[in-house]
Amino acid sequence: MLTIANRLKSALDSITTFSQDAKRDPNTVRLLAVSKTKPNDAIKEAYNAGQRMFGENYVQEGIQKVQELKDLADIEWHFIGPLQSNKTRVVAEHFDWVQSIERTKIADRLNEQRPTEKGPLQVCIQVNISEEDNKSGATPEETLVLAAHIESLPHLTLRGLMAIPANTKSEAEQKRAFEAMNTLYQTLQSQYAQVDTLSIGMSGDMKAAIECGSSMVRIGTAIFGAREKKQ
Ligand SMILES: *Cc1c(COP(=O)(O)O)cnc(C)c1O
Repeated sequence: MLTIANRLKSALDSITTFSQDAKRDPNTVRLLAVSKTKPNDAIKEAYNAGQRMFGENYVQEGIQKVQELKDLADIEWHFIGPLQSNKTRVVAEHFDWVQSIERTKIADRLNEQRPTEKGPLQVCIQVNISEEDNKSGATPEETLVLAAHIESLPHLTLRGLMAIPANTKSEAEQKRAFEAMNTLYQTLQSQYAQVDTLSIGMSGDMKAAIECGSSMVRIGTAIFGAREKKQ
C-alpha cells in the first residue's frame, strides 16, 4: 500500500524529472496539494511529510478544514473552486490565496471583506483558455482588464494566472492550451513586477504544464488517491 507520504514524494520526484527534462530549475515549480473531499487526517499526513500548501474547492468544506487545522504552523490555504458573491466573506477571512477570480465583482468583494490584519489576499485570475462555453474563467482579453482592476485594490495582491484546460489525454492538445497560457502570463509579468505564479498542471497533465512554464502544479489524485463523486 502506498502511503500519502510515498505518493507526495513521487509527485515531487515527477516535478523534478519533468523540470529537468524541460531544462528548468525544479525549485521554480511549487506543489499545491489539492485536498478537496479528503479528511483532515489525510491533510495531516501530507503536512507531516513536509507539505505546506493545500488547495480546496468547496467553501463550507474548506473553511471547516482551515479552522480545524489552524494549529498546523505555516500551513497555506488556497481556494481554487468556483466562488459565488454570497460566499466571498468567509473565503476572504479564512484563505491565504484565491486562484479562481474571474470577474470584477468578486475581486471587489474580496478586497472589501479581507481583514486588514491578515495582510493582502494573494490572488490569481482564472482563465478560460480552451474558451469552452461551460467552463469558468475570464477570456484572455478580459484577463488583462481584470488584472489592471485588481492592481488598484489595496487588500489584494495579484500573483498570476490559473487555468483548468479542456480535459484531454493528448499531450499535443494539452500543450497548445498551456502555451497560450504562458504567452498571456508573460504579458502580465511584463506589466506587473510581483506576478510570479502560473498555476497550470494537474495529476493528468503536469508534464505538459511544466514544459510550458508552470510555476505551480495543483495535484489531488496523485497524492491523495481517487475521490468519491461529490453529491
Ligand atoms: C480537483 C482539482 C485539481 C486536482 O485535480 P487532480 O486531477 O485530482 O490532480 C486541480 N485544480 C483544480 C481547480 C481542481 O478543482
